[in-house]
Amino acid sequence: MRFNIAVIKGDGIGPEVISESINVLGRIAGLYGHEFIFNEYLAGGCAIDAFGEPLPASTLDACRASDSVLLGAVGGWRWDTLPGHMRPERALLGLRGGLGLYANLRPAVLYKPLAGACPLRADIAEKGIDIMVVRELTGGMYFGDRGRKQTENGEGAWDTELYTRMEVERIARSAFDVARQRGRHVTNVDKANVLESSRLWREAVLDVAADYPDVTLDHLYVDNASMQLIRAPHSFDVIVTTNMFGDILSDEASQITGSIGMLPSASLGRGGIGMYEPIHGSAPDIAGKDAANPIATVLSVAMMLKYSFKLEAEAACVERAVAKALESGARTADIMSDGMRRVGTREMGELIVQHMMI
Ligand code: NAD
Repeated sequence: MRFNIAVIKGDGIGPEVISESINVLGRIAGLYGHEFIFNEYLAGGCAIDAFGEPLPASTLDACRASDSVLLGAVGGWRWDTLPGHMRPERALLGLRGGLGLYANLRPAVLYKPLAGACPLRADIAEKGIDIMVVRELTGGMYFGDRGRKQTENGEGAWDTELYTRMEVERIARSAFDVARQRGRHVTNVDKANVLESSRLWREAVLDVAADYPDVTLDHLYVDNASMQLIRAPHSFDVIVTTNMFGDILSDEASQITGSIGMLPSASLGRGGIGMYEPIHGSAPDIAGKDAANPIATVLSVAMMLKYSFKLEAEAACVERAVAKALESGARTADIMSDGMRRVGTREMGELIVQHMMI
């Protein structure tokens, strides 16, 4: 099969981690007989330097015309003093909005060789952690009406949580579709005991569930969900939740698995287009030093293969190779521990490619 991938390397460690991920896709192409066409575009600080704006219209248009977008990271000290609308990070919001990306997928997986990095008790960690948080990305309180007003007790401020049935149904479908590619278990997280918006949310999730009789659905209030993530993380497969609850729970889920350098993400929208990126930033403190962990971006590529291109065997091949590279004892600085072998960005990338086989 043939796919057009828009590549945005971005700033800082972005180009370094993207370069290793392109090598991984090159190996997949060779092993499975696919063709990946990479077209590079600028966004972030490098686009500000070249075009005077963080997201040139030509970049957004090109991403829209691609099958998928692979992004490194944007931002850095050089652009930190620019006004808000000119900051490199504006490119991310522009891409999410411009591509209609309403579903954010953030997996939290604890790799056995890295179990020591898990802050939970060993008997909890050894049961395994493999959770996918599916967060609604374009609605809810972060986008609702807000304001300030005078009250009898002085100045007050308010934000509004508004969800339409359509918005909930489409994110619920994303979650059920993802669950079908995993453990067929969705946990809906809301606050339906208190919030009217959560009651509509739950009704809409239940309606969609009727189309997925092969997927188990249960519900948790968000306060309970945050406890269960610490107490029994192995009990989760896919979590679907609102923009704000997902913001908080996906950070909690990711922290129980160790380093930020290991965590990929996908943002999906209409028609299967997706944007795939590590959750970390441009790490200007280690940029250009061959010290960045490329695994988060490599695993983002695995998500692209699975969710945008429906190439499950190819995605599994990448994930297996990452696990084998870790089992070999190789560690970048962020995941280094006693008795392991310290490697740089390039060597970790090369090791992953070497371990890729059908
Ligand atoms: P960061 O994620 O870039 O770095 C936080 C810490 O984690 C640093 O010590 C860094 O060295 C380390 N780190 C990050 N990724 C790593 C990797 N792959 N391997 C090893 N260590 C890694 O966050 P920050 O320092 O708060 O932000 C730096 C810049 O990145 C800022 O300009 C910020 O706005 C931007 N940022 C961009 C994105 C994005 O592009 N999606 C996300 C977050 C932050």
